[in-house]
Amino acid sequence: MPQSLKDKVVLITGASSGFGADAARLFAKEGSIVVLAARRVDRLTALAEEIRADGGQAFVVPLDVAELSQIDEAVQTVLDNFGQIDILFNNAGFGRLDWLERLDPVADIETQIAVNLTGLIQLTRLVLPSMMNRRAGTIINMSSVAGWIAPPLYSIYAATKHGVRGFTDALRREVAPFGIKVCGIYPGGATTEFGHHTGSAPSKSVFKAAAFLNVTSEFVARRTVGLARHPRRTLILPWWYAPVIWFERAFPGLVDWFLEVTFVKRFHKPDHGE
Ligand code: NDP
Repeated sequence: MPQSLKDKVVLITGASSGFGADAARLFAKEGSIVVLAARRVDRLTALAEEIRADGGQAFVVPLDVAELSQIDEAVQTVLDNFGQIDILFNNAGFGRLDWLERLDPVADIETQIAVNLTGLIQLTRLVLPSMMNRRAGTIINMSSVAGWIAPPLYSIYAATKHGVRGFTDALRREVAPFGIKVCGIYPGGATTEFGHHTGSAPSKSVFKAAAFLNVTSEFVARRTVGLARHPRRTLILPWWYAPVIWFERAFPGLVDWFLEVTFVKRFHKPDHGE
C-alpha cells in the first residue's frame, strides 16, 4: 500500500540546490509540508517562495549539519512548529575528490566526514524519539554508488558514503518494530552543483569525462519521492549500477588492476617528485 504524502511534514537537508531542492518541489506538489534546511538561507527563501507561489507549503530552517548545536535547534524548531516529522530526507553532502595526501586535513577530511556522516547520524538521532513515540516515520539517507564502490580519489567521500550505508542498514533493523522505515538511496553521477565543490584537478577532469553517464537531478528527486511513497531498503540509481556493484564485489582484484593500469599509474605522481 503506497503511503500518501499529503500533509506529511518532510524535513530535507541540503535543500538549497540539487537533489534536495528538486525533491522539495516534488514533495510540495504531492501536498507535503516541506521544511528546507541548509546553510544558504537566501537560496532556501527563494525556493520556499517559489513553492508557495505554486500553492505548496514550505518553511526555511537555517542549518549547518556539521554543527551539533544547530542540529538540535533545527529539530526543536520543526517539532515546536509542526509537532512531528513524518519524513526525514538526509541529503546534505559534498565530495572533495583528490589523492589523500593532497586533501586538507580539516576542510576536506574532517568537514566532509562531519557533513556527510556525523551530521546525518546526529540529526537522525534527534528526530528518532518523536518518530518512535508515534510509531511512524520514514528516513531516507542519501549515500551514493560510492557507498558500494570506492574508486581512487574518492577515499574520504567513499568512507562517508560506506558509513551511511552501514548506519542505514543497522538503524533499519533497530527501528523496524517501531513502524519506522529506513531507506538508503545510492545514485551514480548526476548533474547538480556537486561538481562545483569537488576541489582541484584531477577530480574535475575525471568528473567531466564521466559526465555522459550522468542522470538529472530531477530524476533522482522523482525516485526519492517514489521511495517515500513505497519505502524499501535500497535504491540504486540508475538500475544498471546494480550489476556494476555486483561485478566489483565478485572480481575486486580485476577492478584493482584495471584502475591501476588505466588511471592511477598515469596520474598519481608525488607532489615533490623524487
Ligand atoms: P549539490 O552541491 O547541488 O547540493 C548539496 C547540498 O548540500 C546543498 O544544498 C548544500 O547546501 C548542502 N550542504 C553542504 N554542506 C552542508 C552543511 N555543512 N550543512 C548543511 N547543508 C550542507 O549536490 P547534490 O544535490 O548532488 O548532492 C546532494 C547529496 O547527493 C550529497 O549527499 C551528495 O553526496 C549525494 N550524491 C550526489 C551525486 C552527484 O553526482 N551529484 C551522486 C550520488 C550522491 P548549503 O551549501 O546551502 O549548505
